[in-house]
Amino acid sequence: MEIASLTIDEIREGLLARRFRAEELAAEALRFAEEENPKTGAYLHFSPERALSAARRVDEKIARGEEPGALAGVPVAVKDVIVTRGIRTTCGSRLLENYIPPYDATAIIRLEEAGGLILGKTNCDEFAMGSSTENSAFGPVRNPVALDRVPGGSSGGSAAAVAQGTAVVALGSDTGGSIRQPASFCGVSGVTPTYGRVSRYGLTAFASSLDHIGPFARTVKDAARVLGVIAGRDPRDSTSAEAPVPDYTKALDGNVKGLKLGLPREYLKDMTSESGSLIYRGVEVLRQLGCEVREIGLPHTDYAIASYYIIATAEASSNLARYDGVRYTSRSGDSATLADMYRNTRGEGFGAECKRRIMLGTYVLSAGYYDAYYLKAQKVRGLIARDFRQAFEEVDAVVAPVSPFPAFRLGEKVDDPLAMYLSDIFTITGSLAGIPCMSVPCGRTAEGLPVGMQILTRHFGEITMFRIADAFERAGGVN
Ligand code: GLN
Repeated sequence: MEIASLTIDEIREGLLARRFRAEELAAEALRFAEEENPKTGAYLHFSPERALSAARRVDEKIARGEEPGALAGVPVAVKDVIVTRGIRTTCGSRLLENYIPPYDATAIIRLEEAGGLILGKTNCDEFAMGSSTENSAFGPVRNPVALDRVPGGSSGGSAAAVAQGTAVVALGSDTGGSIRQPASFCGVSGVTPTYGRVSRYGLTAFASSLDHIGPFARTVKDAARVLGVIAGRDPRDSTSAEAPVPDYTKALDGNVKGLKLGLPREYLKDMTSESGSLIYRGVEVLRQLGCEVREIGLPHTDYAIASYYIIATAEASSNLARYDGVRYTSRSGDSATLADMYRNTRGEGFGAECKRRIMLGTYVLSAGYYDAYYLKAQKVRGLIARDFRQAFEEVDAVVAPVSPFPAFRLGEKVDDPLAMYLSDIFTITGSLAGIPCMSVPCGRTAEGLPVGMQILTRHFGEITMFRIADAFERAGGVN
């Protein structure tokens, strides 16, 4: 059993042909993950009991001749911001170091109903705030491709686990790029679905109007398969969409002839780097496959980072108010008054990045400033969404870089928050518009660092996005 390179289809075939049992697979996957994990620190903790009992349920179904589910026996890593009943969920924060949730996120329930095996929880930036996973209270994650580099963030642990082969697929969360950017840094596929496509019930809130759950996988088809399982309306999340969930894998036939792709003019100036030239080569591959490529305009791109860091921090300041030492969290020991207790708990518990965002977010929501900042940013967000709507009148998909540069060194940007924020330029526009977007591997730099190409489509247009990414992957991508 080559755990590190298995696909969902291979697992299914092996199980149904009785070559191995799910329980054996789970045991081997756990052993391998625990052995490999010290190299990267991708996982914070493992959940062997949960994985083994899910595996036994799959084996029983197969023994009874029942359909074992679309993810039968598939080892999954889960970002530690997604709650898991009975399994510690820390959000990368000292405050939640010992928090054991009493319920499962909807995505977790759906994964397990489909036969998935949850191996453990992965490290991430504290409350998903960051682009390198260095903001975790539990230490950074190393990029399995180059151990002196970051895996990206904030879902760095999930991307690293899939790239390292210690999980077949993983769940991450994306608010402004936290799935696509680490996918691109680690050389795997990562998908941010349409806002509302996957229930956020049980996803620890960072910025509610921007938060998404989405999959990582080593192939586009596997990512599409996982999305198919976790997507769909959930009465527990009022923003989850009613739109029916198609079989995303059905349309993956490698044929993209005649599809129209747009290259945003505003992004091209930033594409002179080595990463940029790989993206151009990727676009050339798609052209060879029969896509029509044209330049398009997304004129409000320049305002994306500013409006994102107003909206996201405003919503975060409100969402993080609940960690007060009374509910969920550990409590600071020696406080004379209630106000002191709040202050001490939050002062000791939150890391620097969370504090920075709580302060900024509280400021932009305060009386007198709300209109000038938050409301203004929401208006700009509307313009950015309109840019995409207009683009999709002309083209079927937009193709873009994911990040201006490949994985940087640990420590390189951690003391310069603004530089870290600016690195989100290509992912934040799609997040603000709420459209589906993904990163697919697009070659490596001379130093061997992976680069990801971003594909964005209209709301609920995931099928087109997957078709393009899959055709690109079948064609061998850029090498
Ligand atoms: N890097 C961005 C930020 O720090 C995005 C994070 C995310 O998508 N969770 O906010």
